[in-house]
Amino acid sequence: MTPQIVKQSIKNSEVLLGKSLAELTAWVQEQDQPAYRGKQLYQWLYQKGVRSLSDISVFPKKWRHEMAGYPLGRSTIHYRSVAPDATRKYLLRLADGLIIEAVGIPTAKRLTVCVSSQVGCPMDCDFCATGKGGFTRNLKAHEIIDQVLTVQEDFEQRVSNVVFMGMGEPMANIDHVIAAVKSLNQDVGIGARSLTVSTVGIPGKIHQLAQHKLQIVLAVSLHASNQALREQLIPSAKKYPLNNLLDECRDYVEVTGRRVTFEYVLLSRVNDLPENARELSQCLKGFQTHVNLIPYNPISEVDYQRPQKNRIREFTNILEAANITVSVRYSRGLEADAACGQLRASKV
Ligand code: SAH
Repeated sequence: MTPQIVKQSIKNSEVLLGKSLAELTAWVQEQDQPAYRGKQLYQWLYQKGVRSLSDISVFPKKWRHEMAGYPLGRSTIHYRSVAPDATRKYLLRLADGLIIEAVGIPTAKRLTVCVSSQVGCPMDCDFCATGKGGFTRNLKAHEIIDQVLTVQEDFEQRVSNVVFMGMGEPMANIDHVIAAVKSLNQDVGIGARSLTVSTVGIPGKIHQLAQHKLQIVLAVSLHASNQALREQLIPSAKKYPLNNLLDECRDYVEVTGRRVTFEYVLLSRVNDLPENARELSQCLKGFQTHVNLIPYNPISEVDYQRPQKNRIREFTNILEAANITVSVRYSRGLEADAACGQLRASKV
Protein backbone atom coordinates (compact mmCIF):
# COMPACT_ATOMS: atom_id res chain seq x y z
CA MET A 1 0.00 0.00 0.00
CA THR A 2 2.63 2.56 1.03
CA PRO A 3 4.66 2.74 -2.20
CA GLN A 4 1.36 3.66 -3.92
CA ILE A 5 0.86 6.50 -1.48
CA VAL A 6 4.30 7.84 -2.30
CA LYS A 7 3.70 7.52 -6.05
CA GLN A 8 0.24 9.07 -5.87
CA SER A 9 1.48 12.03 -3.84
CA ILE A 10 4.23 12.73 -6.37
CA LYS A 11 1.67 12.58 -9.20
CA ASN A 12 -0.73 14.94 -7.40
CA SER A 13 2.20 17.05 -6.24
CA GLU A 14 0.77 16.88 -2.75
CA VAL A 15 3.52 17.86 -0.35
CA LEU A 16 3.76 18.19 3.42
CA LEU A 17 5.43 21.60 3.73
CA GLY A 18 2.83 24.32 4.07
CA LYS A 19 0.43 22.12 6.04
CA SER A 20 -0.62 23.20 9.52
CA LEU A 21 -0.19 21.11 12.66
CA ALA A 22 -3.84 19.99 12.41
CA GLU A 23 -3.42 19.01 8.76
CA LEU A 24 -0.22 17.09 9.46
CA THR A 25 -1.91 15.31 12.35
CA ALA A 26 -4.79 14.30 10.07
CA TRP A 27 -2.27 13.15 7.48
CA VAL A 28 -0.31 10.86 9.84
CA GLN A 29 -3.60 9.38 11.03
CA GLU A 30 -4.56 8.65 7.42
CA GLN A 31 -1.30 6.68 7.28
CA ASP A 32 -2.43 4.65 10.32
CA GLN A 33 0.01 6.38 12.62
CA PRO A 34 -0.90 7.76 16.05
CA ALA A 35 -1.89 11.44 16.24
CA TYR A 36 1.17 12.50 18.26
CA ARG A 37 3.36 11.76 15.25
CA GLY A 38 1.72 14.82 13.65
CA LYS A 39 3.39 17.08 16.21
CA GLN A 40 6.71 15.32 15.66
CA LEU A 41 6.41 15.71 11.91
CA TYR A 42 5.50 19.39 12.36
CA GLN A 43 8.61 20.06 14.44
CA TRP A 44 10.95 18.18 12.16
CA LEU A 45 9.56 19.89 9.06
CA TYR A 46 9.53 23.48 10.28
CA GLN A 47 12.10 23.60 13.08
CA LYS A 48 14.71 21.05 12.00
CA GLY A 49 14.14 21.60 8.27
CA VAL A 50 14.23 17.91 7.49
CA ARG A 51 14.43 16.98 3.79
CA SER A 52 13.11 13.41 3.87
CA LEU A 53 10.77 11.45 6.11
CA SER A 54 13.51 8.84 6.35
CA ASP A 55 15.58 11.32 8.38
CA ILE A 56 13.00 11.66 11.15
CA SER A 57 14.72 9.46 13.69
CA VAL A 58 11.79 9.42 16.12
CA PHE A 59 9.60 7.67 13.54
CA PRO A 60 9.42 3.86 13.40
CA LYS A 61 12.16 2.44 11.18
CA LYS A 62 9.85 0.50 8.88
CA TRP A 63 7.58 3.47 8.20
CA ARG A 64 10.55 5.79 7.63
CA HIS A 65 11.87 3.38 5.08
CA GLU A 66 8.53 3.00 3.29
CA MET A 67 7.89 6.75 3.15
CA ALA A 68 11.44 7.78 2.26
CA GLY A 69 10.38 9.09 -1.17
CA TYR A 70 7.31 11.02 -0.03
CA PRO A 71 7.65 14.60 -1.28
CA LEU A 72 8.05 17.14 1.49
CA GLY A 73 8.12 20.11 -0.87
CA ARG A 74 11.79 21.05 -0.61
CA SER A 75 13.81 22.48 -3.48
CA THR A 76 17.44 21.68 -4.22
CA ILE A 77 20.24 24.23 -4.42
CA HIS A 78 21.19 24.43 -8.08
CA TYR A 79 23.77 27.17 -7.65
CA ARG A 80 24.99 29.47 -4.91
CA SER A 81 27.15 32.57 -5.11
CA VAL A 82 28.57 34.59 -2.25
CA ALA A 83 29.17 38.33 -2.66
CA PRO A 84 32.09 40.07 -0.89
CA ASP A 85 29.59 41.57 1.57
CA ALA A 86 28.57 37.99 2.57
CA THR A 87 25.20 38.16 0.83
CA ARG A 88 24.42 34.76 -0.66
CA LYS A 89 22.34 34.29 -3.78
CA TYR A 90 20.73 30.93 -4.43
CA LEU A 91 19.28 29.49 -7.58
CA LEU A 92 16.82 26.88 -6.38
CA ARG A 93 15.44 24.06 -8.49
CA LEU A 94 11.75 23.37 -7.95
CA ALA A 95 10.04 19.98 -8.29
CA ASP A 96 9.10 20.75 -11.92
CA GLY A 97 12.67 21.74 -12.77
CA LEU A 98 12.06 25.50 -12.89
CA ILE A 99 14.61 27.75 -11.23
CA ILE A 100 13.95 30.61 -8.84
CA GLU A 101 16.14 32.91 -6.80
CA ALA A 102 16.38 33.57 -3.11
CA VAL A 103 18.89 35.81 -1.34
CA GLY A 104 20.28 35.57 2.19
CA ILE A 105 21.41 38.89 3.64
CA PRO A 106 23.28 38.69 6.97
CA THR A 107 23.88 41.66 9.25
CA ALA A 108 25.32 41.74 12.75
CA LYS A 109 22.02 40.89 14.42
CA ARG A 110 19.81 39.68 11.64
CA LEU A 111 19.49 37.23 8.83
CA THR A 112 17.09 38.49 6.20
CA VAL A 113 15.84 36.35 3.35
CA CYS A 114 14.60 37.94 0.15
CA VAL A 115 12.10 35.48 -1.32
CA SER A 116 10.56 35.11 -4.77
CA SER A 117 6.79 34.83 -5.09
CA GLN A 118 6.63 33.88 -8.78
CA VAL A 119 8.80 32.28 -11.45
CA GLY A 120 9.53 35.41 -13.48
CA CYS A 121 7.20 38.40 -13.27
CA PRO A 122 4.28 39.67 -15.37
CA MET A 123 4.64 43.36 -14.38
CA ASP A 124 7.52 44.28 -16.73
CA CYS A 125 8.75 47.39 -14.91
CA ASP A 126 11.23 49.08 -17.20
CA PHE A 127 14.20 49.10 -14.81
CA CYS A 128 13.85 45.56 -13.40
CA ALA A 129 15.65 42.50 -14.73
CA THR A 130 13.07 39.98 -13.56
CA GLY A 131 10.32 41.26 -15.85
CA LYS A 132 12.62 41.13 -18.89
CA GLY A 133 12.54 37.34 -18.75
CA GLY A 134 8.73 37.18 -18.78
CA PHE A 135 6.41 35.28 -16.49
CA THR A 136 6.18 31.50 -16.07
CA ARG A 137 4.01 30.66 -13.06
CA ASN A 138 2.98 31.46 -9.52
CA LEU A 139 4.82 29.83 -6.64
CA LYS A 140 2.86 27.68 -4.21
CA ALA A 141 3.01 28.55 -0.52
CA HIS A 142 5.40 25.70 0.27
CA GLU A 143 7.80 26.88 -2.46
CA ILE A 144 8.04 30.22 -0.67
CA ILE A 145 8.44 28.68 2.80
CA ASP A 146 11.13 26.37 1.41
CA GLN A 147 13.29 29.34 0.39
CA VAL A 148 13.41 30.53 3.99
CA LEU A 149 14.23 27.06 5.34
CA THR A 150 16.93 26.60 2.71
CA VAL A 151 18.71 29.85 3.59
CA GLN A 152 18.35 29.09 7.30
CA GLU A 153 19.96 25.69 6.79
CA ASP A 154 22.78 27.07 4.64
CA PHE A 155 23.69 29.84 7.10
CA GLU A 156 23.15 27.56 10.10
CA GLN A 157 21.43 30.52 11.68
CA ARG A 158 17.81 31.37 12.36
CA VAL A 159 16.17 33.68 9.87
CA SER A 160 14.92 36.83 11.58
CA ASN A 161 13.32 38.70 8.67
CA VAL A 162 11.72 37.87 5.34
CA VAL A 163 11.12 40.35 2.53
CA PHE A 164 8.98 39.45 -0.49
CA MET A 165 11.25 41.41 -2.82
CA GLY A 166 12.66 38.65 -4.99
CA MET A 167 11.30 37.59 -8.35
CA GLY A 168 7.63 38.23 -8.96
CA GLU A 169 4.75 40.38 -7.89
CA PRO A 170 3.35 39.06 -4.59
CA MET A 171 -0.10 40.60 -5.09
CA ALA A 172 -0.46 38.74 -8.39
CA ASN A 173 -0.18 35.55 -6.33
CA ILE A 174 -1.97 36.80 -3.26
CA ASP A 175 -3.54 33.57 -1.97
CA HIS A 176 -0.30 31.62 -1.89
CA VAL A 177 1.59 34.62 -0.53
CA ILE A 178 -0.87 35.05 2.34
CA ALA A 179 -0.71 31.33 3.11
CA ALA A 180 3.10 31.52 3.12
CA VAL A 181 3.10 34.60 5.34
CA LYS A 182 0.82 32.89 7.85
CA SER A 183 2.93 29.76 7.87
CA LEU A 184 6.23 31.64 8.20
CA ASN A 185 4.73 33.35 11.20
CA GLN A 186 2.95 30.46 12.89
CA ASP A 187 4.97 27.42 11.83
CA VAL A 188 8.50 28.71 11.18
CA GLY A 189 8.16 31.24 14.02
CA ILE A 190 9.15 34.53 12.38
CA GLY A 191 7.45 37.59 13.90
CA ALA A 192 4.75 39.11 11.68
CA ARG A 193 6.37 42.53 11.99
CA SER A 194 9.55 41.05 10.59
CA LEU A 195 7.77 40.02 7.38
CA THR A 196 7.59 42.57 4.54
CA VAL A 197 5.47 42.18 1.42
CA SER A 198 6.42 44.50 -1.42
CA THR A 199 4.03 45.32 -4.26
CA VAL A 200 3.92 47.61 -7.26
CA GLY A 201 0.13 47.58 -6.86
CA ILE A 202 -2.68 45.65 -8.52
CA PRO A 203 -6.17 47.12 -8.24
CA GLY A 204 -8.11 45.72 -5.28
CA LYS A 205 -5.34 43.51 -3.93
CA ILE A 206 -4.06 45.80 -1.17
CA HIS A 207 -7.66 46.07 -0.03
CA GLN A 208 -7.95 42.27 -0.08
CA LEU A 209 -4.72 41.93 1.90
CA ALA A 210 -5.97 44.44 4.47
CA GLN A 211 -8.95 42.21 5.30
CA HIS A 212 -6.54 39.64 6.78
CA LYS A 213 -5.36 42.23 9.30
CA LEU A 214 -1.85 40.82 9.35
CA GLN A 215 0.73 42.69 11.38
CA ILE A 216 3.22 42.55 8.52
CA VAL A 217 4.96 45.49 6.84
CA LEU A 218 3.44 46.50 3.51
CA ALA A 219 5.89 48.16 1.13
CA VAL A 220 4.51 49.82 -2.00
CA SER A 221 6.77 50.45 -4.98
CA LEU A 222 5.86 53.97 -6.06
CA HIS A 223 8.93 55.05 -8.07
CA ALA A 224 7.26 58.15 -9.47
CA SER A 225 5.75 61.36 -8.18
CA ASN A 226 3.02 61.64 -10.80
CA GLN A 227 0.88 59.40 -12.98
CA ALA A 228 2.57 60.19 -16.33
CA LEU A 229 6.04 59.37 -15.01
CA ARG A 230 4.77 56.24 -13.30
CA GLU A 231 3.21 54.99 -16.54
CA GLN A 232 6.51 55.54 -18.29
CA LEU A 233 8.34 53.30 -15.81
CA ILE A 234 5.64 50.79 -14.89
CA PRO A 235 3.35 49.57 -17.71
CA SER A 236 0.73 48.22 -15.30
CA ALA A 237 0.28 51.73 -13.85
CA LYS A 238 -1.85 52.64 -16.89
CA LYS A 239 -4.67 50.57 -15.45
CA TYR A 240 -4.15 51.79 -11.91
CA PRO A 241 -4.07 55.57 -11.44
CA LEU A 242 -1.68 56.78 -8.74
CA ASN A 243 -4.56 58.37 -6.82
CA ASN A 244 -6.43 55.07 -6.65
CA LEU A 245 -3.29 53.29 -5.45
CA LEU A 246 -2.77 55.89 -2.73
CA ASP A 247 -6.45 55.63 -1.73
CA GLU A 248 -6.05 51.89 -1.36
CA CYS A 249 -2.98 52.45 0.82
CA ARG A 250 -4.95 54.86 3.04
CA ASP A 251 -7.64 52.23 3.35
CA TYR A 252 -4.98 49.67 4.32
CA VAL A 253 -3.68 51.92 7.11
CA GLU A 254 -7.22 52.43 8.39
CA VAL A 255 -8.18 48.75 8.38
CA THR A 256 -4.92 47.32 9.75
CA GLY A 257 -3.62 50.16 11.92
CA ARG A 258 -0.22 49.56 10.30
CA ARG A 259 1.89 52.02 8.36
CA VAL A 260 2.71 51.63 4.71
CA THR A 261 6.28 52.06 3.50
CA PHE A 262 6.88 53.48 0.02
CA GLU A 263 9.76 52.40 -2.15
CA TYR A 264 11.25 54.70 -4.75
CA VAL A 265 13.97 53.57 -7.15
CA LEU A 266 16.13 56.59 -7.95
CA LEU A 267 16.94 56.88 -11.65
CA SER A 268 19.26 59.73 -12.56
CA ARG A 269 17.51 62.61 -14.42
CA VAL A 270 14.35 60.53 -14.73
CA ASN A 271 12.65 60.68 -11.33
CA ASP A 272 15.32 62.16 -9.04
CA LEU A 273 14.79 65.86 -9.68
CA PRO A 274 14.04 68.25 -6.80
CA GLU A 275 10.56 68.80 -8.24
CA ASN A 276 9.95 65.03 -8.08
CA ALA A 277 10.85 65.10 -4.39
CA ARG A 278 8.49 68.03 -3.80
CA GLU A 279 5.70 66.35 -5.76
CA LEU A 280 6.26 63.10 -3.86
CA SER A 281 5.99 64.96 -0.54
CA GLN A 282 2.65 66.34 -1.71
CA CYS A 283 1.41 62.87 -2.72
CA LEU A 284 2.27 61.47 0.69
CA LYS A 285 0.75 64.34 2.71
CA GLY A 286 -1.33 62.97 5.54
CA PHE A 287 0.39 59.58 5.46
CA GLN A 288 2.37 58.58 8.53
CA THR A 289 4.91 56.97 6.30
CA HIS A 290 8.45 56.03 5.62
CA VAL A 291 10.10 56.32 2.22
CA ASN A 292 12.77 53.87 1.18
CA LEU A 293 14.93 55.31 -1.59
CA ILE A 294 16.69 52.65 -3.67
CA PRO A 295 19.51 53.99 -5.84
CA TYR A 296 19.16 52.14 -9.14
CA ASN A 297 21.12 48.90 -9.53
CA PRO A 298 22.29 48.54 -13.12
CA ILE A 299 20.85 45.88 -15.40
CA SER A 300 22.07 45.22 -18.93
CA GLU A 301 18.87 45.79 -20.92
CA VAL A 302 18.37 49.49 -20.17
CA ASP A 303 20.71 52.42 -19.73
CA TYR A 304 19.38 54.16 -16.67
CA GLN A 305 21.99 55.62 -14.34
CA ARG A 306 22.28 55.66 -10.60
CA PRO A 307 22.16 59.29 -9.37
CA GLN A 308 25.19 60.97 -7.84
CA LYS A 309 25.34 60.93 -4.04
CA ASN A 310 24.73 64.69 -3.75
CA ARG A 311 21.51 64.39 -5.75
CA ILE A 312 20.32 61.56 -3.53
CA ARG A 313 21.15 63.77 -0.54
CA GLU A 314 19.15 66.66 -1.99
CA PHE A 315 16.16 64.39 -2.71
CA THR A 316 16.32 63.08 0.86
CA ASN A 317 16.53 66.59 2.34
CA ILE A 318 13.41 67.74 0.53
CA LEU A 319 11.40 64.77 1.83
CA GLU A 320 12.73 65.20 5.35
CA ALA A 321 11.83 68.91 5.29
CA ALA A 322 8.25 67.72 4.66
CA ASN A 323 8.47 65.56 7.80
CA ILE A 324 8.77 62.30 5.93
CA THR A 325 11.24 59.80 7.35
CA VAL A 326 13.59 58.52 4.69
CA SER A 327 16.11 55.73 4.40
CA VAL A 328 18.42 55.11 1.48
CA ARG A 329 18.82 51.46 0.70
CA TYR A 330 22.11 50.76 -0.95
CA SER A 331 21.33 47.23 -2.02
CA ARG A 332 23.58 44.48 -0.83
CA GLY A 333 24.76 41.67 -3.05
CA LEU A 334 25.46 43.80 -6.15
CA GLU A 335 28.53 41.75 -7.05
CA ALA A 336 26.53 38.54 -6.99
CA ASP A 337 23.80 40.06 -9.17
CA ALA A 338 21.62 39.54 -6.13
CA ALA A 339 20.58 43.14 -5.53
CA CYS A 340 17.07 44.54 -5.97
CA GLY A 341 15.93 44.31 -9.55
CA GLN A 342 18.83 42.14 -10.66
CA LEU A 343 17.21 38.78 -10.03
CA ARG A 344 16.68 36.57 -13.00
CA ALA A 345 16.75 32.83 -13.21
CA SER A 346 18.92 32.57 -16.31
CA LYS A 347 22.11 33.73 -14.59
CA VAL A 348 24.10 30.65 -13.72
N1 SAH B 1 7.12 43.16 -7.44
C1 SAH B 1 7.38 43.68 -6.14
C2 SAH B 1 8.59 43.11 -5.46
C3 SAH B 1 9.84 42.91 -6.26
S1 SAH B 1 11.18 43.99 -6.37
C4 SAH B 1 7.48 45.19 -6.22
O1 SAH B 1 7.52 45.72 -7.31
O2 SAH B 1 7.48 45.83 -5.18
C5 SAH B 1 11.60 44.73 -4.89
C6 SAH B 1 12.01 46.21 -5.11
O3 SAH B 1 13.17 46.34 -5.96
C7 SAH B 1 10.89 46.98 -5.80
O4 SAH B 1 10.69 48.21 -5.16
C8 SAH B 1 11.48 47.17 -7.18
O5 SAH B 1 10.90 48.22 -7.84
C9 SAH B 1 12.95 47.37 -6.88
N2 SAH B 1 13.79 47.29 -8.09
C10 SAH B 1 13.49 46.66 -9.25
N3 SAH B 1 14.50 46.81 -10.14
C11 SAH B 1 15.45 47.56 -9.53
C12 SAH B 1 16.74 48.03 -9.93
N4 SAH B 1 17.26 47.76 -11.13
N5 SAH B 1 17.44 48.76 -9.03
C13 SAH B 1 16.95 49.00 -7.79
N6 SAH B 1 15.75 48.57 -7.36
C14 SAH B 1 14.99 47.85 -8.22
